[in-house]
Amino acid sequence: MKKQRELAKSGQKFISDNIDFDWQLSFDKDHSIFEGYLNDQIETKIVNYAFEDENLILVLYQTPFYAESGGQIGDTGIIKNSDFSARVLDTQKNGEFILHFCQIDSGAIGDNLSVNCAIDLTRRKKIKNNHTATHLLHQAVKDTLGNHVNQAGSLVDPDYLRFDITHPNKISKNEINQIEEIVNQKINDSINVETKIKSLDEAKKEGATALFGEKYGEMVRVVSIGNFSKELCGGTHVSNTAEIEKFKIKHEKAISSGVRRIHAISSTEVDIFLQDLKNSQKNQILAEQERQIQKELQKQLVESVDFSQILSQEILMNGIQTIISEVHLGNAGDLRVIDQKIRNNFSKGLIILFTKVDDKISLSVSLSSELISDSFNSGLLVKFIATPLGGAGGGKNDFAMAGGISSNNSEIEIIQSIKDSIEKIMEKK
Ligand SMILES: [Zn+2]
Repeated sequence: MKKQRELAKSGQKFISDNIDFDWQLSFDKDHSIFEGYLNDQIETKIVNYAFEDENLILVLYQTPFYAESGGQIGDTGIIKNSDFSARVLDTQKNGEFILHFCQIDSGAIGDNLSVNCAIDLTRRKKIKNNHTATHLLHQAVKDTLGNHVNQAGSLVDPDYLRFDITHPNKISKNEINQIEEIVNQKINDSINVETKIKSLDEAKKEGATALFGEKYGEMVRVVSIGNFSKELCGGTHVSNTAEIEKFKIKHEKAISSGVRRIHAISSTEVDIFLQDLKNSQKNQILAEQERQIQKELQKQLVESVDFSQILSQEILMNGIQTIISEVHLGNAGDLRVIDQKIRNNFSKGLIILFTKVDDKISLSVSLSSELISDSFNSGLLVKFIATPLGGAGGGKNDFAMAGGISSNNSEIEIIQSIKDSIEKIMEKK
């Protein structure tokens, strides 16, 4: 370890690309070999390593970890030996090397440079599904929208795929359905996916889709899905389309002029998405039913108000016929309805009603027209009455409402407080 540190101090740097890490060993290899098309777990040697903050960066000679490229996200997994165990959080290319960005879970790197590496297979499986689905989508989009469509970007993640295309218009619901149908048909057809290394010329002659602006070497990897799709691609793919199980486009949108972005999912993510959709629709229905029940309940409470009992509470305050009464309602807004019904049999005077809904008390004040003046009206009265009770409100001259009154006040306390307030305002009058 000490010797390695000294080497680091001697200024050994990563030479092949732009990121300078403080490499702890000298490089005795000039590239990494990706073995992950065939193997998901291998024994190999550490070529070099560096530390970046808390993270360990490992360069291996051979690796089953796919480094992010061609839109496909990097693999994660475990690299370990008898000295340490590290979780690979991301895998990135750096020149000819593949860098594994790791978090050490236990131990530390020692003299033993032999390691066992294993990718997260479940995650890789999802990535493979989404990558092959992306190729199917690419051809399905061309077949549906026309040959003017070109790939403008792509992201293959375990949970979803994102595909950008050049297309001037919104992709209609019908077109989306058609694209989904084509992809799902190809999945159901159980087509073998083949990968071959060919010369770039040969691949182009065969009509393989190459990406505009992408630099290709003399030899290229061609991924073919039967006669349906042929693309130059270095990514990892399923061996048969049936593995993808199902495909769904979640939505599409414009990301710039003439470029549309398609968000899609495959396999179990489709089930999760459809289940969530079903649940939210179910919840909407339940919420609507709940609203209807509440409305019905409120209606019943309004209908069951005993008006003769309220009218019997009439008192005379400073010569004004006054009703102060609690009513049981499910909605404070119904105070207005009750007030108007009382008015049918109580055409002259002051009506003050209050009700408790959801632990808050609301009240209404109404005055018959001959009692209204600039200094004595419902809007003023309601403020005067509600303030000592901790509430607030306002309204017009003939009718006003206040809310926010604490239900800690008992019915008797509220009535007393209202009477006190009215007496005070009448003294001023
Ligand atoms: Zn690809």
